[in-house]
Amino acid sequence: MKKVVVKGSSAEKLSAFFPWVYDNEILERPESRGDIVEVFSKSGAFLGTGYLNTHSAIAVRLLSFGKEKIDRAFFVRRITRAFESRREIFGRTNAFRVVHSEADGLPGLIADIYNGFLVVQVNTAGMENFRGTILDVFSQVLVIKGIYEKSDARSREKEGLQTRENVLMGEVPERVIIEENGIKFLVELKGSQKTGFYLDQRRNRYITSSRIVAGMRVLDVFSHTGAFGIYAALKGAKVKLVDVSRAALDLAQENAGLNGLGRIEAIKADAFDFLDDCVKDGARADAVVLDPPPFSRTHGSRQGALRGMKHLALQGLRILGDGGLLAIFSCSHNISMDDLLRLTIEAARDTRSRLEVTDFLFQDVDHPYLINIPQSLYLKGLLLKKHD
Ligand code: SAH
Repeated sequence: MKKVVVKGSSAEKLSAFFPWVYDNEILERPESRGDIVEVFSKSGAFLGTGYLNTHSAIAVRLLSFGKEKIDRAFFVRRITRAFESRREIFGRTNAFRVVHSEADGLPGLIADIYNGFLVVQVNTAGMENFRGTILDVFSQVLVIKGIYEKSDARSREKEGLQTRENVLMGEVPERVIIEENGIKFLVELKGSQKTGFYLDQRRNRYITSSRIVAGMRVLDVFSHTGAFGIYAALKGAKVKLVDVSRAALDLAQENAGLNGLGRIEAIKADAFDFLDDCVKDGARADAVVLDPPPFSRTHGSRQGALRGMKHLALQGLRILGDGGLLAIFSCSHNISMDDLLRLTIEAARDTRSRLEVTDFLFQDVDHPYLINIPQSLYLKGLLLKKHD
């Protein structure tokens, strides 16, 4: 078995079940592109079993904090555990993330089920080495009709891997209809548009829509395929969707039809320009949902991201009347709930708004948050009510 020796600072983190060793925390290692290694401290204490990629900044990702053999049985245990731990949502949806990488003890592996079809991402060289076994275990443990691989180009590149996109098992259609909280959505499994579906917002869509009543004017900004907006429209709200992606808006229109709704107003625009125009024109809404993409993927871009988020909050508050609702989200793991609160407090002060936090919102349970892995908490949101 290959061996890695790490610095004291890393040994401390691994002992607290943090699963990564960065390149500059290593004292001794062999050359490796994804081989299984055992990790030890300088004094020889065993810390865990994982895989090493000497071409990646995150050199080791631990698969186990014990002396576990990484074989087929290991993947059966981990995948079964991940599946079982999601039981509580099975009654609410037929689309969910079944494996979420480190948070399920399977770094580099992501798998979603969309109405019986499994979409898999293998994002690291270490996981790539077990690809065959993993796919085999998925078809054994889960009842599925097909498997499609849609590996994320960006992370694979960092690992020195080719991008992959193809059918691996069964027949996989271009798109499927899923049902979440009784509402139907089309999800594109294949295709160049890459519209996909944001499963992590499931619970937040439910909570937000529970405060929407008939007749409210709802702005769903960064709407993607219209999920928040369609929940609201089914409550009888007058909804406007705003997104920069034509493909996403077209799919949103189909989603409206699928749920027996008429056409929904869908505006293809940059959200910042759109909101600025609304404010300039004195436009009004009773609820505004702001669900932007991650503005900050690196620590360096944090300040810019916070400014962007604050601008969204400011404009949202300016559009809302008394009693209005604001739902604001950030899915950058380096923007904390405290950051989100702070920028919202500033925006409330700048617009002289009295704001009540009605709900603290987080990613749904199929995207687990392990307290030992701070990065695994990435989606935060606030649902706010503006008082007169
Ligand atoms: N609320 C959605 C998910 C939003 S994902 C849901 O629940 O399904 C973020 C969306 O923001 C994507 O659809 C993307 O096309 C869109 N987007 C990214 N930058 C944008 C911009 N500057 N203006 C408007 N939309 C943008």
